[in-house]
Amino acid sequence: MPCVAGYRIQTNTAPPSISAPPPQPKGKPAKKSVIAPTLPSNAVILEVILSDTCLFPEGGGQPTDTGVIHADGITWPVLKVLRHGGSAVHYVQVVDERTAEEALGFFSTGAQVEAELDDAGWERRVDHMTLHTSQHLLSALLETKLQLPTLSWSLTSYPSPCYVEVPRGMTADEIAMIQREANNLVFEGRKVHVEAQELDRESLAPVEKTEAGRAVGRGLPDDYTGGVHRVVFIDGVDKNPCCGTHLPSLNNLQLFLLPHTDALSRSATTVARLYFLAGPRLMLHLTSTHNYLSSTAALLSCGLPQVPERVALVVDDRKAATKRVEDIESELAKYIAADLLTEMEKAPVDTLFKKHIHRQDDSSTALTFLTAIASAVADGSSKLQEKRSYVLVFSSSPTAQAATNTNVVFVAGSDDARVKALGDGLKATVGIKGGGRGLKWSGKVIGTWKTREDAGVEQVLATVS
Ligand SMILES: [Zn+2]
Repeated sequence: MPCVAGYRIQTNTAPPSISAPPPQPKGKPAKKSVIAPTLPSNAVILEVILSDTCLFPEGGGQPTDTGVIHADGITWPVLKVLRHGGSAVHYVQVVDERTAEEALGFFSTGAQVEAELDDAGWERRVDHMTLHTSQHLLSALLETKLQLPTLSWSLTSYPSPCYVEVPRGMTADEIAMIQREANNLVFEGRKVHVEAQELDRESLAPVEKTEAGRAVGRGLPDDYTGGVHRVVFIDGVDKNPCCGTHLPSLNNLQLFLLPHTDALSRSATTVARLYFLAGPRLMLHLTSTHNYLSSTAALLSCGLPQVPERVALVVDDRKAATKRVEDIESELAKYIAADLLTEMEKAPVDTLFKKHIHRQDDSSTALTFLTAIASAVADGSSKLQEKRSYVLVFSSSPTAQAATNTNVVFVAGSDDARVKALGDGLKATVGIKGGGRGLKWSGKVIGTWKTREDAGVEQVLATVS
């Protein structure tokens, strides 16, 4: 099949059907390595089988093509193609607000239609072919140079890096060596070709297993009834059964391996993922990575190579600043507590001391500060000459009033029952969500904090005696 944008094939149709949403799978969903496009839930979809097609059905780790079918002067989007037995089923979106029944008329048995890999479909196909051929090349080199079988691979959704899974982690030197070997073959422009052989299931070698029992790759699907067995060759490098679409040569297939492997822990065995990029995805990766790096460099007013060092400095500074704020907060908490204790001491000994203190604080650790004040009060009150009963409500809200603000509240006191009563009251009256135990109760409420909230707290405080 020639690989060109706008490639069309004239074909006729078998009886179409209206696509019903697939039934919910029972139990644990099967592991899927191929990402299929999700069909729009409100679209009417026909399932159409053609006598021939230029659109690739999902298979062999390669995702489906998308494209169009021209029927009776109308262009119908093909959202995905799946293989059922030996046939490719096209998921055709019904257009122009036709009913499924009206649309079926365009695809009656024997109707002459044209399937086309349109511009968007072609771009998608080039990406898939590039990465699929890259995977064959990469897997062949891993096998021959390092005796590392490919356990599985994933042609991930654009633009994420694809990966192969190998039985162990690889060193940076090993990865660099494989990348060098691959790009030597790319430089030579090794040819890739496909041979279709008559399918004889008996003669197919069974799927191998690693010592740990993990299958190496996958065999031909059991439901495949296509009658032919395709083998993809990279001259002098690789020969592999495959149903996917490939580039005609390794020309221009610059292969890039991310220079590390990620260890994955599976039940009995540890495997590693080696990520790779090539073609359009590699270009996008380089562009976006460069943009991330240069915008970070601009923020730090430094050159690109200095970014890691400067970021390390910023992180260190930030840690030191956080520590300093914590130290100063704990010092400040003691002063605020001291003022409260002085006030408490001036009040008559046999009365309950009640107070609400509202603060403004834009930090995300406002509650920690309120807790620090409450702890300092508890500490100080235990040292007072005469024991006092008290309940305190501390609240804190951001300086700018906004409906999305999170306001935090902390309740402290000299006995459990009153703290609990106050917390319950704040829940019911001010709508604060929270909870507590013993002498502490904390909560939060989303929204603005205005006089109404202050009045609510005062009202609840008044009920506690
Ligand atoms: Zn393949």
